[in-house]
Amino acid sequence: MANRKTLSGGSAAFHGTRHAHARCVGRALGRAEELCRQRGARLTYMRRRVLELIWDSHKAVKAYDLLDRLSDSEKSVRPPTVYRALEFLMVHGLVHRVDSLNAFVGCSGSDEQHNAQFLICQECGEVSEMDGAMIGQAVARQAAEAGFNVRRQMVELHGECPGCAAK
Ligand SMILES: [Zn+2]
Ligand SMILES: [Zn+2]
Ligand SMILES: [Zn+2]
Repeated sequence: MANRKTLSGGSAAFHGTRHAHARCVGRALGRAEELCRQRGARLTYMRRRVLELIWDSHKAVKAYDLLDRLSDSEKSVRPPTVYRALEFLMVHGLVHRVDSLNAFVGCSGSDEQHNAQFLICQECGEVSEMDGAMIGQAVARQAAEAGFNVRRQMVELHGECPGCAAK
């Protein structure tokens, strides 16, 4: 086993509504700033704002909700502006697109390129990222055996988080 210093070590964590979420946001923004500094990329006002809004909760956020919320405070925000910011955040691995929901979540995983798996609670909508490198490799291997060239992996699991399952 490689010595991986990720937060989760491959297991996902659900937060529920009652936790110190400001800490999650602070960590995400700090990471974004650090990463952009390292890569010489600019975390512009709009990119940072979009990231903040996505991290408003652990639920996935749709682009038009972002647009709505940005437009309250800044009248002239147009869809391409939001999409460009999202594109930047995705390229730098700061957010992921959850395909089935057509929505975005903040990345809570490692800085390396990673194939995350997503646990999606159908009750409360919380999405948890599972950075299971072995799962990603197994899927890629099986696909390769079929002669399939994988460009992108998106593994989604739909069900109930611990909090909702206990209700
Ligand atoms: Zn949180
Ligand atoms: Zn991630
Ligand atoms: Zn739930």
